[in-house]
Amino acid sequence: MVCVGGLHGNEPAGVLALERVVDALDGPHALLKGKLHGRLLAMRGNLEAIRRGRRFIDEDLNRIWDPEHVQRVVRSHPSELTTSEMNEMRVLYRAIQDEVERDAERIYFADLHTTSSHSLPFMWSIPDASNGHFVRNYPMPVIYDLVPRIQGSSAAYFGHLGHTVICAEGGQHEAAASVDYLEAVMWVSLVQAGLLKHNDAQEIYTRAYRLLDEATRAIPRVMEIFYHHKIKLSDDFMMKPGYLNFQEVEAGEVLARDVNGEIRSPANARILMPLYQAQGEDGFLLVRERRTDEARMTG
Ligand SMILES: [Zn+2]
Repeated sequence: MVCVGGLHGNEPAGVLALERVVDALDGPHALLKGKLHGRLLAMRGNLEAIRRGRRFIDEDLNRIWDPEHVQRVVRSHPSELTTSEMNEMRVLYRAIQDEVERDAERIYFADLHTTSSHSLPFMWSIPDASNGHFVRNYPMPVIYDLVPRIQGSSAAYFGHLGHTVICAEGGQHEAAASVDYLEAVMWVSLVQAGLLKHNDAQEIYTRAYRLLDEATRAIPRVMEIFYHHKIKLSDDFMMKPGYLNFQEVEAGEVLARDVNGEIRSPANARILMPLYQAQGEDGFLLVRERRTDEARMTG
C-alpha cells in the first residue's frame, strides 16, 4: 500500500495520520510490530509546500498527473523542470514505481486530504471497478463522479493504471479530528486490503470503524455530484461564510459572489467543499443522494 499525505501542503492531517500508523506498525512501542502482511510505503506529498504551509508553490500537485505529462516529467532531468511541483511529482512517481516493480500482487494507492471548510470524513469513488467495490465497504459516505471532472488528479492516474485507489478527506485542514478520521481510514483500509489480519488488529479496527460510522450516520452513504462551480482567479470568487460540508442548501439560495454578482444554488442539495482559502480552482460542489440499484445494495 502506497500512501501519500500532504499532496497539498496546507493539509498536515494526512501526514500526521500516516506518522501514527507507521509508529503503531514499526515504532519503538509498536502495538502491531511484525503484523503487516505486505509492504506499506508512507510519503509526504508536496515537501516544499508542506514546509511553507501552502497548498502549492507554483501549481497544484494534485492536478498535473496527466499521463503524457507524467512521462515527460519523469524522463526529464531535474534541472529541466520548470515548476517546484514537477520536481515533487518526479520524486513521488519514482518511489511508487519502485514498489510497482517489486511485483506486488496488488497495489493500493491511498491519498489523504482535508478541506478548507469544516467537514465530516468522506471518500471519493474513482471510476475504476476495483475502487468502486473496495470503498463500498467503508463506514462513511462515498462521493461518486468527481474524478472525471478534475483533470490531472493522482487518484485518477493510479486508478487508470489498475491500482486500487483509496481517496479520503478527513475534515477541516487544522481540525484535530481530521487526523483521527484519516488514521481510522488507514486502519480500515489496511484490514480490508488484507495487509493486517482482522485477528491481529481487531481492537484498533473496531475502534476505527466505529469512529467513522458514528461520525457520519446523519448523512447518506452514497452521493453523487451534479453541479461543480469551477473558478479562475479573475472571477474574484467569494464563498458566503459559514457553510459546512454536507450542509443542506435550497434552490435559489445565495451561496457565493463573484465579478458577475450572486451565485445561487440551482436545486435543493448538499454543499461540498465550499472554498474558504485563497488557492484552489473549485468554488464548491453540490451533491445529492445517489439512488441507484448500487446505492440500495450498499444500504
Ligand atoms: Zn487536498
